Amino acid sequence: MKITEHIKKANEKTLFSFEIIPPKKGKSIEDLYANIDPLMEFKPPFIDVTTSREEYVYVEKEGLLDRKVTRMRPGTVGICAAIKHKYDVDTVPHVLCGGFTKEETEYLLVDCHYLGIDNVMALRGDAMSHQKYFEASKGGHQYAKELVSQIQNLNKGKYLHDVIESDNCADFCIGVAGYPEKHLEAPSLQTDLKRLKEKVDAGADYVVTQMFFDNKKYFEFVEAAKNIGITIPIIPGIKPIAVKKHLQLLPQVFRIDIPENLIKEVDACKTNKEVRQVGIEFAIQQSKELLAAGVPVLHYYSMGKSDNIQAIAKELF
Ligand code: FAD
Repeated sequence: MKITEHIKKANEKTLFSFEIIPPKKGKSIEDLYANIDPLMEFKPPFIDVTTSREEYVYVEKEGLLDRKVTRMRPGTVGICAAIKHKYDVDTVPHVLCGGFTKEETEYLLVDCHYLGIDNVMALRGDAMSHQKYFEASKGGHQYAKELVSQIQNLNKGKYLHDVIESDNCADFCIGVAGYPEKHLEAPSLQTDLKRLKEKVDAGADYVVTQMFFDNKKYFEFVEAAKNIGITIPIIPGIKPIAVKKHLQLLPQVFRIDIPENLIKEVDACKTNKEVRQVGIEFAIQQSKELLAAGVPVLHYYSMGKSDNIQAIAKELF
């Protein structure tokens, strides 16, 4: 079922969902199931599965965190199919422009359609670690908007090269990314919003935001989006702080601000167990305010661990 249909069916009740990362290459999917199992009692209508072209480890270098590339993580579509089958839940593979030709993307989408996957998240992807700027693959897309158009074409039965009279069209519901604190490459929030509107005009059905810690920024973003004619659901993405290093890592990687009061509380922690608890309590308060505002879904970034999200969901759902 489409995410937009889930939202409609919920009839203004806020839904719970989360994003998972495929296991490291060579690791068992059982570890992933062990993280998903405790969250299923909160009845997520859908689970997102990320795609990574590169995998990173962060090492400290001259007081800053340096990103080291290790290897790529495969498995997104396979995991979507496995989870869908095991838990009877909708899954949303993240489909990237970067690293894929249009033909490869078409094959992936055709596979998704055969597997009964109804939703895809269309993303550009980041620059590779050896690149200063994002570079499209030869024969691939430069911006997420173009990927949205390709998916919409497929929805109409239009394949890249073949003139096929399709009697079994895909009908993907398409998610795209939005940035309440603007995308790191965008010259201004207003310009970035115009780019978001282009993705919506190309056929995006809903938006999921980058993580943020100040709800005011999300509310202002939704308002500004409405003002330029974006009326599709804008789902807030929430990341509970889990380790002290997040204070440095999250702003560095995602270009987001962390509020002073949260920084102070995390700084005062003596152990990561205490940090985890601070992160949980902050996310609960943040989520409660978003719930009260009637957001369609509360979407949590698990980053491979689910115990903190379970603790948050227990308070809310
Ligand atoms: P786009 O919408 O293409 O925008 C990228 C930049 O280009 C923006 O600055 C935009 O303003 C600008 N722009 C757009 N169109 C034009 C134009 N015509 N001319 C000039 N500038 C333009 N990354 C992964 O690798 N894997 C994932 O699974 C993943 N999941 C994500 C999930 C969510 C909810 C979010 C918010 C992000 C995710 N990302 C993921 C990160 C994402 O790939 C990066 O943030 C990437 O740098 C931008 O992707 P996008 O789809 O927003 O790109």
